[in-house]
Amino acid sequence: MRPGLCFKRGAFSRGSETPAVKASGMRKTIEELGRRLGGLEVHTEPGLRLSYNFDATGRRGEALGVVFPEEQGQLATVVREAGRLGLPLFMRGAGTGFSGGSVPVGGGLVVSTEKMRKVFSFAPEEGTVEVECGIVNNELQCFLEPRGFFFPSDPASLKVSTIGGNIAENAGGPRAFKYGVTRRHVRSLVWIAPSGEILETPMEGPAALLAGSEGTLGVIYSARLSVLPLPEAREVSLVLAGSDENAMRTASALLAGGLRPGVMEFIDSKTLGCVGEYRSVRGLDTGESCLFLEFDGPLRDVEAQSRMLDDFCRRERLFKISARGRVESDILWDLRRSISPSLARKGITKINEDVALPLGRLGDAVAFIHSAARELGLDCYIFGHCGDGNLHVNILTDRRRHEEMSRSELFVGRLFEKVAAMGGSLSGEHGIGMTKNRYLGLLFREGEIRMQQGVRSAFDPAGFINPGKYFSGICS
Ligand SMILES: Cc1cc2nc3c(=O)[nH]c(=O)nc-3n(C[C@H](O)[C@H](O)[C@H](O)COP(=O)(O)OP(=O)(O)OC[C@H]3O[C@@H](n4cnc5c(N)ncnc54)[C@H](O)[C@@H]3O)c2cc1C
Repeated sequence: MRPGLCFKRGAFSRGSETPAVKASGMRKTIEELGRRLGGLEVHTEPGLRLSYNFDATGRRGEALGVVFPEEQGQLATVVREAGRLGLPLFMRGAGTGFSGGSVPVGGGLVVSTEKMRKVFSFAPEEGTVEVECGIVNNELQCFLEPRGFFFPSDPASLKVSTIGGNIAENAGGPRAFKYGVTRRHVRSLVWIAPSGEILETPMEGPAALLAGSEGTLGVIYSARLSVLPLPEAREVSLVLAGSDENAMRTASALLAGGLRPGVMEFIDSKTLGCVGEYRSVRGLDTGESCLFLEFDGPLRDVEAQSRMLDDFCRRERLFKISARGRVESDILWDLRRSISPSLARKGITKINEDVALPLGRLGDAVAFIHSAARELGLDCYIFGHCGDGNLHVNILTDRRRHEEMSRSELFVGRLFEKVAAMGGSLSGEHGIGMTKNRYLGLLFREGEIRMQQGVRSAFDPAGFINPGKYFSGICS
């Protein structure tokens, strides 16, 4: 790891303070903030604060106060006053993040967006909708669908995660293969600079950097998003491919043969078996790896692609389940979206890493991952958006078994080293947050990290917005 780089952490990062002294200082500051916010309550009840200490990683921080602003003015006041008081501020959507992005590490104020979920306007002729940051992705989809539109960014967490969180993480998802990640669908933002200033800007210049900034540069209040007309037809298929290698070979052969699925997901045999225990669908108990595909577009194109897939599967003797109507398609989509919950149900601790590689390297990567896990005696499950090279690598373990946790950490280190050596990225979509920051040196040279720190300081010189994330782990 590259030593010596240290990100400025703001007023509460003085090394000489013990955590207790720091927390007690912050509590007083939070009381002062409460006085300055007037009508907006700062919640300090222990039961309420507890649920804001974590995100989906299970990593823990300490929410010393939680606020629920309801409109732009309140949000801007919170940011301005927290900045004046030097109080660490952590934005939180739904807390589904897989890299600890919203965890109040080191203690501070959590700003929840859950009371800001309005749809301001919908302009079908322009293909845009303007929403507040706290709206849940699926609430937006439910608003759009009866009007004949959809929002193309669809993380598998869409039933829970918020548009603000999706933008801050530049979320991907199954449909990103065809439609691209969230940033591509954001036209403009209303956002609050760390000074408290409200800015309304198109997705150019500074605002463009907010997408994927993991909540470290500024606070997103609302967004004007691009939406698309619903496709005339959609067909979902599950193709059982036998081994992992054959699944990857099949994915490449389908693309080389001219198929253009909107969704192309890989699910390894263990993961499929685990989903089969959770949801009973015929064909899931075969012990085979599979591809999950969706074609969408004009009916004639979908039918043509479907026939090509049929021919391919017949030639290669692959078993396929397909669904075209809404009800049957939903069953297959529910199955895909229940992968994470079914794994979480099976293991006490789920270590979830996501990496990205060129499609042609995925087969080798999957073989390496399974062999490294076997060597270390770990229970490993792989799935992901293979169309755009994104693999989710899950280890089911138990954080109370310390020796097994050390082996898991060793595994994660080997995984990241291998991925970096193969020209891949440490995060396909879940971000760096507080879980991967110590591996940044595998991806970037010292000078490149310093440039990124410079950008961060230009936005937030005091470093009070989401401290302890992205850069902090590389401090020596
Ligand atoms: C079951 C499951 C499936 C998932 N599938 C996918 C997937 O397919 N694709 C994918 O990309 N991710 C996926 N994720 C990860 C996660 O859902 C995404 O990162 C999502 O975008 C986080 O949204 P959230 O509202 O939960 O944000 P949070 O977890 O609350 O926050 C995430 C980050 O965004 C920041 N943030 C939140 N709101 C704002 C705001 N208004 N202004 C500035 N910063 C803000 C936070 O500070 C934090 O750094 C999955 C997670 C789960 C649990």
